[in-house]
Amino acid sequence: MQELKQEQSGTAVQDLDQTRINAKAYAATSATSPLGATRIPRREPTETDVQIEILFCGVCHSDLHYARNEWHEFMSTVYPCVPGHEIVGRVAQVGSAVTSFKEGDLVGVGCLVGSDGTCPSCQEGLEQFCPNQVQTYGARDPHGTAPVTYGGYSDRIVVHHRFVLRIPPNLDLAAAAPLLCAGITTYSPMRHWNVTEGQKVGIVGLGGLGHMGVKFARAFGAHVVVFTTSPGKREDALRLGADEVVLAAEVEHLLGLGDAADG
Ligand SMILES: [Zn+2]
Ligand SMILES: [Zn+2]
Repeated sequence: MQELKQEQSGTAVQDLDQTRINAKAYAATSATSPLGATRIPRREPTETDVQIEILFCGVCHSDLHYARNEWHEFMSTVYPCVPGHEIVGRVAQVGSAVTSFKEGDLVGVGCLVGSDGTCPSCQEGLEQFCPNQVQTYGARDPHGTAPVTYGGYSDRIVVHHRFVLRIPPNLDLAAAAPLLCAGITTYSPMRHWNVTEGQKVGIVGLGGLGHMGVKFARAFGAHVVVFTTSPGKREDALRLGADEVVLAAEVEHLLGLGDAADG
């Protein structure tokens, strides 16, 4: 986010209230405009909030869908929009009731920044099914700081501590950022189906999720088969841990595999 430091003044998303944090961000102002440097408001941390200095943010394909308003049938983009939900940063400030984090801690934020905390799903720790969940960007902002929530293409974010994750300091922080969406999206089903040694896992596509899937499946001890339509990705797939790479054009090989994959 070094470029943010060169941002020009006078391009604010909206008038900034003095009671709010004035954060730098990259926003799209329409479905066809590129991202541009701007300023956005963040709320001052409440007693249960963590204020984070964002160090890295992954680029998820959802960010592109949202910026381009490609989900307009069920989630119209509110412009200006600030995407980004693979956030890694350092705690800058914590509210008085926050005991699990302190200034300087390395932390992450994924796709959610809030929920009601009271519904059956929340009680089970399944906030992703909460009917009142607050997504990291593009959701109605329950604090009223801005028309919608703004994501991680920014230098600051303020998040309820229950939606802040600890990031081990021995990780490469830039490489850790995609764990917050692509990573959990592939890790979760593999844990659910108990992927382990002796199993075969097929990964279709070596993109943002696919490359994470390869690494997790390999780490769990499975035999990893990557299916791709891009011959140029063969070497990358093998380097990341695939045991086999099947080009989609290799129909005979596909037919030969039959039911060979366990998941
Ligand atoms: Zn994502
Ligand atoms: Zn809930």
